[in-house]
Amino acid sequence: MAAEDAFAYALSSNQAWAGYKGHQNPDFFPKLASGQSPAILWLGCSDSRCPETTILGLQPGDVFVHRNIANIISPTDINTSAVIEYAVTHLKVKHVVLCGHSSCGGAAAALSDVRVGGVLDTWLVPLKAIRNANKEELSSITDDKLRGVRIAELNVEAGINVLMANPAVQDAIAERGLQVHGTFFDIGSGRIRDLGLGTKGGHNGIPGLNGDAGDVVRGKHAMLVFRTDGAGSMQAR
Ligand SMILES: [Zn+2]
Repeated sequence: MAAEDAFAYALSSNQAWAGYKGHQNPDFFPKLASGQSPAILWLGCSDSRCPETTILGLQPGDVFVHRNIANIISPTDINTSAVIEYAVTHLKVKHVVLCGHSSCGGAAAALSDVRVGGVLDTWLVPLKAIRNANKEELSSITDDKLRGVRIAELNVEAGINVLMANPAVQDAIAERGLQVHGTFFDIGSGRIRDLGLGTKGGHNGIPGLNGDAGDVVRGKHAMLVFRTDGAGSMQAR
């Protein structure tokens, strides 16, 4: 597809999608328009290969989202903080999911000594700090891809620490059992790994969907059933 056709294609694809969804379930859009009560706040990377609702197999209305370059969670970033506060305090999401990913350009840039330019180097300062704080471990990893994975994991860990120190998050954990999860998306396999960080580790497969999966997808659209028996399989019914 020529680049200039991408927007026209996207618009026509939207028309087809809206037609299909409406045909499949006439209540879908009216119900969606009546309000939102997502169970999950997703904090992820802006990377085009990590569209949270798609990779979770969920639907519009299921996930409240903030994405930025390299999923950096900084306590003084008012954008991230506003999204977290609205999702946690007002929408009362049940899960906060922070997700890093493989082949992250931000991670690669932070591992490089070459400046990207403009505001990007400033944005990546927290990742550079993670690199410096973990110099020994990171330099011992000879494979570039694996080193990128490791710094991205460390970045999720740092972000989880920021989330766990967030007053709105702390209150929600104490008052209503909000769960915070650190996860990692492997683009090469499409699988999300739970890093066992946050309020409770030990999930297998899709994070935050153990036990209370029924809370996550309850639309009139096909219900997705998550299994966490290790296979991480999913079926629509
Ligand atoms: Zn990324």
